[in-house]
Amino acid sequence: MSYFPTYNIFDMALKQFDRCATLLELDQPTRDFLKTPLREYHFSLPVFMDNGDPIILRSFMVQYNDARGPTKGGVRFHPSETIDTIRALAMWMTWKCAINNLPLGGSSSGVVCDPHLFTPAEQERICRGFVRKTAHLSGPEWDVLGPDMMTVPQHMLWMLDEYETIHNKKSPGFITGKPLNHAGSKGRKEAPGYGAMVIAREMLKDLGIEITKTRASFQGFGMVAQHAAQLYDQMGGLITSIACWNHNDRTAYTFFKQEGINFDQLISITNQFGEIDKERAISLGYECLPGDDWLSQDVDILVPAALENQIRRDNFERINRKVKIIVEAANGPTDPEIDSLLNERGIIVIPDILANSGGVICSYFEQVQGNMNYFWSKEEVLSKIDSHITSAYMDVSNFAQTYNVSLRDSSYMLAIDRVARACQERGWI
Ligand code: NAD
Repeated sequence: MSYFPTYNIFDMALKQFDRCATLLELDQPTRDFLKTPLREYHFSLPVFMDNGDPIILRSFMVQYNDARGPTKGGVRFHPSETIDTIRALAMWMTWKCAINNLPLGGSSSGVVCDPHLFTPAEQERICRGFVRKTAHLSGPEWDVLGPDMMTVPQHMLWMLDEYETIHNKKSPGFITGKPLNHAGSKGRKEAPGYGAMVIAREMLKDLGIEITKTRASFQGFGMVAQHAAQLYDQMGGLITSIACWNHNDRTAYTFFKQEGINFDQLISITNQFGEIDKERAISLGYECLPGDDWLSQDVDILVPAALENQIRRDNFERINRKVKIIVEAANGPTDPEIDSLLNERGIIVIPDILANSGGVICSYFEQVQGNMNYFWSKEEVLSKIDSHITSAYMDVSNFAQTYNVSLRDSSYMLAIDRVARACQERGWI
């Protein structure tokens, strides 16, 4: 899913919904209800710059569906933000929470702005202004905010501070993604990549394949990929290649080692943006191949963990015949149009909506810990994510077998079914 969509991303989300609603034989009123956000708030956010001039930022908050609990969603700062992107993200978050059986609905918010253009003081005023305009619509029991594109823990803390000032009480459960010393959760950085590999482990078990006999190729070596690679390595899998971007050369490279990478060594030559130092990698014996060679490696598992739209009709034939599983750790890495081709080849895709949902599970745990004012160790958080996402995978897998559909369809169908039932049980439709 591109940052600058040339297509309407909400139309794409609706298409996906329609396909699965048809498979579920959902009745028309329920379909109509679930295709529309419950609430939308469009507003202007005036913010004073350091020089005293005001600017007006267009902003949105969409609470898609809260039949299963308070909505949960990220706040994005992006110059190309549109209401349709926010609607799509809020819809997808509704499904993501439902797949994982979290007692939460889905939402998303956005301010049309580029935070790089503002000083820290101006960014703080945007965060505080955003909360002043929305405090009556959010809160631990109504809509739980969190970080998303171009928003970081400091932004979350300013937002929390403003909310607590308005309500004159401490409410750490109002927002997630906070700094660790301000009621953040341990394990948040590890969660999405870790969860993806827990599901891969469970799937390999189902297929009767020993993880220690598998090899994997990764695209990306940033936050998600690093933690996924680390867990896979710890579980005994062999990673033979990792692709990442090279800022100086303005291209991507695949770093390959037949006998497998040394995780700690590779981390020590990787910068904060997930870029492996090319010269040092070569001196350590890695072959430096073209960026998209990660796709054609002789491995069992492909882990796209970098960008959207990386496995498409035009490069599908490059996928090695040995590949059995694609773990979509990134958001939208596979063009859904080629799902049928992958299926024909017998490649199983663990869809993004399930694979990287460790992140939202951990956000939920952060909210729970904040509400209790009692915080768990990293081991406890990760072990709870393990059991939570394992049971989500088992639900999706059973549903896929019952309906004889792919894991992608099954994930959406299961989620839509759960949300539809919650709406019906409440007597809304
Ligand atoms: P990141 O910025 O930390 O890392 C991105 C990695 O991708 C880097 O290693 C970079 O070098 C590499 N990369 C960029 N362009 C590339 C290219 N053309 N070819 C090969 N490699 C390339 O990002 P992240 O937080 O790890 O997120 C990765 C993906 O996971 C994104 O799709 C994101 O939406 C998704 N995701 C992130 C989270 C989260 O909490 N961070 C949660 C769920 C899903």
